[in-house]
Amino acid sequence: MAKVIIIGAGGVGQVVTHKCAQLPEVFTEIVLASRNEDKCKKIAAQIDTPIRTAQVDADKVPELVALFEREKPFMVINVALPYQDLTIMDACLEAGVHYMDTANYEPLDTAKFEYHWQWAYQEKFEKAGLMALLGSGFDPGATNMFTAYAAKHYFDEIHTLDIIDVNGGNHGYPFATNFNPEINIREVTAECRHWENGEFVETPAMSLHQSFSCPDDVGTFNIYRMYHEELESLTKHFPSLKKAQFWMSFGESYLKHLEVLGNVGMTSIEPINFNGVEIVPIQFLKALLPDPSTLGPRTVGKTCIGCVVKGVKDGKQKSVYVYNIKDHQDCYREVQSQAISYTTGVPAMIGAKMMIEGKWMKEGVWNMEQLDPDPFMDDMNQHGLPWQIIEEPDFNLI
Ligand code: NDP
Repeated sequence: MAKVIIIGAGGVGQVVTHKCAQLPEVFTEIVLASRNEDKCKKIAAQIDTPIRTAQVDADKVPELVALFEREKPFMVINVALPYQDLTIMDACLEAGVHYMDTANYEPLDTAKFEYHWQWAYQEKFEKAGLMALLGSGFDPGATNMFTAYAAKHYFDEIHTLDIIDVNGGNHGYPFATNFNPEINIREVTAECRHWENGEFVETPAMSLHQSFSCPDDVGTFNIYRMYHEELESLTKHFPSLKKAQFWMSFGESYLKHLEVLGNVGMTSIEPINFNGVEIVPIQFLKALLPDPSTLGPRTVGKTCIGCVVKGVKDGKQKSVYVYNIKDHQDCYREVQSQAISYTTGVPAMIGAKMMIEGKWMKEGVWNMEQLDPDPFMDDMNQHGLPWQIIEEPDFNLI
């Protein structure tokens, strides 16, 4: 059906490439491009279907445009870093290519997690007759779909949303992050924001936690309230929401290390001068930590990510929990990767598939929940992320 260029050969890029290659009738040609082409070649070598590779610096619009004009893809699947979103969107507009990503744009010097930079491209994409799909990973991505699906099929109006991201996996390291360390640490050390009565309320990072028992014996975990980017788009597109919160599980060892690293300044994004060289502490820390794409063989346990939605149906209060459970080792057996990259890469493939098959093709810039969740949810069941719904779950969430 269509040719795609995947940009970024990290943990997520590896999974997207595997999953697209599993559907040659949809993804007829795949080019995997990244800053370091050797990483693309290593991924291509894991896959039987031929995957072409290319070198590109996605911070540079002219390099991207040259690649797109040479390859003439239908669309770009951007799984590089959030810093590259706008340059890739600019290049897509210049070369007439559709766009998709899994994380909102972030400027390098401030950890903001806001959509306004990308929403500002709405008119440009509309005028160019192109589509940009934002945030087609798991969270954001599948969590937006879970919310939209619940709202569509179970409620007349939704009032509260709790997105709960539990990683019950263990990689055996005292401290490692399951996706890009720099992005992960920027996210978890940022001020917490949650939606309450029509506005975002700020509280200190990690200042509220509770215990959560996952279904199906995944286990009981401490989950911490934090800001996550889908809260911004979901509260905009579901204005009936009175309260929306995001929770993530963290182990004691992870939090202890993070506290110490933060106290000594290692998680800072402010550049410092070290022996005459300017370095950014968090980037130096990233170089010391295990590469998330190497965690696959050693991570055991399961992820359990889902949404608790409450609201009214036919005048009665109601609540549902929509969730997916994924086993780290199952992911490794299938695509040589742990479940965090897997649960991001599969929705990225499905988002691209929705665009290519025309089920979601729409000019402009869109968040996931603005599109029909049904075909996406069907594909999650087909392609490795089956989900369940519990009506009236007996969680006593704060
Ligand atoms: P990695 O750091 O493992 O991979 C990023 C890749 O992008 C690397 O191959 C890197 O190259 C490449 N890259 C970085 N800068 C450039 C550049 N200027 N030009 C070309 N390539 C570049 O990250 P992940 O795979 O873990 O994450 C990928 C994306 O997915 C991130 O945006 C992340 O925020 C997002 N994500 C989304 C989730 C969701 O559920 N929505 C969950 C997890 C991640 P190099 O190897 O040379 O550094």
